[in-house]
Order: sequence, then structure tokens, then C-alpha cells
Amino acid sequence: MTDLIDSFPTVRELSDDEWRFLIEGDYDRQRLFDKADEVRRQYYGTDVYIRGLIEISSFCKNDCLYCGIRRSNGNAERYRLSKEVISACCEQGYGLGFRTFVLQGGEDSFHTTEWVADCVSALKEKYPDCAVTLSLGERPRKDYEIWYQAGADRYLLRHETASRSHYEKLHPPEQTFAHRMECLWELKQIGYQTGAGFMVGSPFQRTEDLIADMRFLRNFQPHMVGIGPFIPHHDTPFAAEPQGSLERTLTMVALTRLILPKTLLPATTALGTIHPQGRELGLKAGANVIMPNLSPAAVRGQYSLYDNKLCTGEEAAEGMESLKRRVLEAGYRITVGRGDSLATEPG
Ligand code: SAM
Repeated sequence: MTDLIDSFPTVRELSDDEWRFLIEGDYDRQRLFDKADEVRRQYYGTDVYIRGLIEISSFCKNDCLYCGIRRSNGNAERYRLSKEVISACCEQGYGLGFRTFVLQGGEDSFHTTEWVADCVSALKEKYPDCAVTLSLGERPRKDYEIWYQAGADRYLLRHETASRSHYEKLHPPEQTFAHRMECLWELKQIGYQTGAGFMVGSPFQRTEDLIADMRFLRNFQPHMVGIGPFIPHHDTPFAAEPQGSLERTLTMVALTRLILPKTLLPATTALGTIHPQGRELGLKAGANVIMPNLSPAAVRGQYSLYDNKLCTGEEAAEGMESLKRRVLEAGYRITVGRGDSLATEPG
């Protein structure tokens, strides 16, 4: 069965048994990680792209059962950044070498179509050499179109789980799997470099669900895939659930690199949160993106999606020098540039 690893990248569909073995089988994971690293080097060399993450609002109208900023969490501290503050964050980030800004937030109704469009066009005007990524959840197609016309290049919307029954256990009935999927396909059709993704070890997740994730990714062909362990937040219904494991998360990162060799794969903050070397291990398992936090230090702690979320040290934009050093020590190199996905190029 381990010959399977050598057969990557393959165009062949894998059977349920083959996927099950790759995900949970008893074999030397290092072989899988090394293969993912080999494939990543073939396409992206040792380059690691950096994205400046600005968490623009912790208000959210949604009620995802796993998330610390869900609307039912009355203990969550809420904040929202003004356009001026967002612009100042980007200015600082530009100076530090960032050429992609990611505006992420809860689904905040204060963010009207026009407000976001103005924000995007102002950033694109000021930094024409930069990419702007939005991650503002599910919106009407018209909003996605208007923001794309305003200059937004990319959109991140994790699918969270590709299994409808699992999705329904993680979300209240008004947040539907069908709508999440519809949004993802719309984003891609409009022309965004689109990011999907999922949590590893989220409550009720079975191996079948992870197989569904792999098959969905292969079919959807996203430009980016965010994969991180589920980490409980103390003020959510999943407070007592165990966190996702490091090994399983690295396994899913590596398998994603093997089925989507050209995709952009972040070594996520959640991965860095569950293990001191999580970021480096992610890079060595096929990841090639890091998203340091550019939000103002005063509000970072309030974007509390899960407990102990990292937001200082190498995680923060000010920690760039030590991040560069750590990435070098791991055998890779941070590069300045937009870092578009090779999947946008023909061939
Ligand atoms: N509202 C936007 C959306 O829904 O895409 C963006 C913000 S949302 C908080 C960003 C991501 O955080 C989610 O897609 C989810 O995968 C992740 N997240 C939320 N709670 C988490 C938890 N407890 N553990 C790990 N990741 C979590």
C-alpha cells in the first residue's frame, strides 16, 4: 500500500480503502511528508509566501458551534477596524515586505457592499503591486462581483467539511452546506483565486468526512487550501471537545499537496498554536504560505476563534526577522512578491 505514496501526483481516483489507509493507516508518515515536500519543491522551490492578515471585525451574525466569535458568545469582546486603521496596518505591512493583504472578519452587517468595495479600491490604488484577499464569509453573488470589480484578487472561504451531514453538526440549521458550496463555486466563476479549506479533528469528524474533503478539493481545484486543527474555545458548545491532532493535520496538508501540486497551502496559525514547531512542520509537509498577523496589537486578543490563539512573536508582523530566520532554519526562504498560485497559469 505504501507504493501509493510514490505514485503521486496521480490523475487516478483513489478508492475509499486507499484513502482510508493514507489518512489513518499505520505507516511511516515521514515518507508521506517527504514526498509532499518533494512535490512542493518541484513547483515552488523553497519559496514561502507571506500574507499580512488583518482581522477587520470580530462581530459575527453567524453561530458556528466551534467558533469563539459566534454571535451567541456573550463573553466575546467585539471590535471593528475603521478604514483608516486598516490602511495604517497595510502601510506598516508594506514596509515590512508584505505584498498581499488579507482582510478577514466575522460576518459583520456593518460591512456593506460599498464599504468593502471602497476599502478594496483604496488599497489597490495605494498599492497597485499588491494583491488583496477577502475572507468575509458568505455574501450575495452581487457583492462578490462588485468587490472583484473593485480590485479584490482572492477570496478565502473554507468549506469546513465536504460532508453535508457533518456540516449540519457544526452549524445551526440556517447556515446551510448548500449555500456554502454555492458561494465557493460563485467565487471561482467570478474569477477570484479561491481558497477552500477545513478543520482537522472537528467534533463528529470521521475518516469518511476527510475522504469527502479530499474528493471535493480534487473536483473544485481551489487556488488555496487552509487546513488547521480544530481547537476548542471555552465559550462555545464544543468547549470540552478534544483538539485536532498534529499528525493528522500534517497528514491532510501533505495529501492536499499531493493531489493539488500547484495549490497555495498555508502553515496555519492553528498549527502553530498546537505545537511550538507547528509552522515549520507544516512547511516540511508541503505548506508554502505563512500569514502573520498585521492587526493592531491592541485588538489581536479579541479575535479569539479558539483558546490560546497565537498572535505575538513570529506570528505577528513585528516578528518578521525571527520568522525569516526560523523559515531559513527549516530549509525554506521567505520571498517578497504577490505569490500568486501557479494554478492560475495555463498548464
Ligand atoms: N467569517 C469568515 C468565514 O466564515 O469564512 C472568516 C472568518 S472565520 C472565523 C475563519 C476560519 O476560522 C473558519 O473558516 C474556521 O475554519 C476557523 N475556525 C473557527 N473556529 C475555529 C476553531 N475553534 N478551531 C480552529 N479553527 C477555527
